[in-house]
Amino acid sequence: MDLYEYQAKDLFAAHGVPVLPGAVASTPEEAQAAAEKIGGQVVVKSQVKAGGRGKAGGVKLAESAAEAKEKAEAILGLDIKGHITRRVLVTAASDISEEYYFSFLLDRANRTFLAMASAEGGVEIEQLAVERPDALARVAIDPIEGVDKAKALDILTRGKFPEEVKDEAADVVVKLWETFVAEDATLVEINPLVRDPQDKIVALDGKVTLDGNADFRHPAHEELVDKAAEDPLEAKAKAKDLNYVKLDGQVGIIGNGAGLVMSTLDVVAYAGENHGGVKPANFLDIGGGASAEVMAAGLDVILGDSDVTSVFVNVFGGITACDAVASGIVEALKILGDDATKPLVVRLDGNNVEEGRRILNEANHPLVTQVDTMDNAADKAAELAAGA
Ligand code: GDP
Ligand code: MN
Repeated sequence: MDLYEYQAKDLFAAHGVPVLPGAVASTPEEAQAAAEKIGGQVVVKSQVKAGGRGKAGGVKLAESAAEAKEKAEAILGLDIKGHITRRVLVTAASDISEEYYFSFLLDRANRTFLAMASAEGGVEIEQLAVERPDALARVAIDPIEGVDKAKALDILTRGKFPEEVKDEAADVVVKLWETFVAEDATLVEINPLVRDPQDKIVALDGKVTLDGNADFRHPAHEELVDKAAEDPLEAKAKAKDLNYVKLDGQVGIIGNGAGLVMSTLDVVAYAGENHGGVKPANFLDIGGGASAEVMAAGLDVILGDSDVTSVFVNVFGGITACDAVASGIVEALKILGDDATKPLVVRLDGNNVEEGRRILNEANHPLVTQVDTMDNAADKAAELAAGA
């Protein structure tokens, strides 16, 4: 889960990484009140989960509370790379002597953690990495050893941070590492990390990605979820522990096993080319235990998608045999009753396939069509979707 800047800064503050005081506002009046409370010069910043807000006009300096209200008026509603600004962060302004870059992240390719540091921050890191690769230090971090002050100083030296601020910046880096570990993040990034005219080091921006696999250890992270921005179908699927991703096509997909579902998306997209370009409407992996409840929950989510005009259930019986899956489908259709309205193409193969097909034939549900091969079933599902 990616966090908003204000949430990232809250986590930073909780772990001692220096940030400036601020408050979130969703109306110009709230922004004015926040600016009044902070006093003096403030910065009004669009809160969207996208970078480059500064360039897009989403970060503006205000000299007074009245001006903060004006700036908030201009920024609220602003579209930044397809993200509409619903809230702004009003935060104390800082004078800037220098802008640095610092991050810790999970380096999947090298199966390690990585620190990235540069005395030339402020610009987008992708740009820096391309244009001035020598200016960006990349230092692998041993997860057991972690980052102590000596390690932090080493990273900053390689990032060419100036001598005068290195010691203080190293303390910040150690605290940033503590944030990364304690919160189970896969990314903590500060860009810019600034040096102010008094040589104080402050995080003026913050980007954090939390590892969803560690959610069970962090009940408090639940509150960071932006419920309003969540896709309602994805939220419903999540509540039922389903592995669901909404896509923009018309053929609802249910399969067991991520690999099978991925290839099902491919064959449906391919078959769809012969039927007016229909596409998969979602990814949904119901996993190994395809019980009636799980099947019903999956169908319920997919049938609730108004874009869906046909459904393709593609199951390879393994430990959960085809007869159990077939019974699951029949039971699920009973549970859903009149809520099941769209044609279902079912392809079963694998363990106990004959019995599975027999159960479906015997049930003879008017919405269900059985097709024996994956390609033919994909074609049928695409045809039904296009004809609807
Ligand atoms: P981003 O463009 O989405 O990365 O947003 P940032 O929070 O990094 O802000 C963009 C730029 O605005 C920064 O690189 C700074 O140059 C500038 N900026 C942000 N906060 C302040 C501030 O408090 N004072 C001043 N003078 N500039 C700021
Ligand atoms: Mn930034």
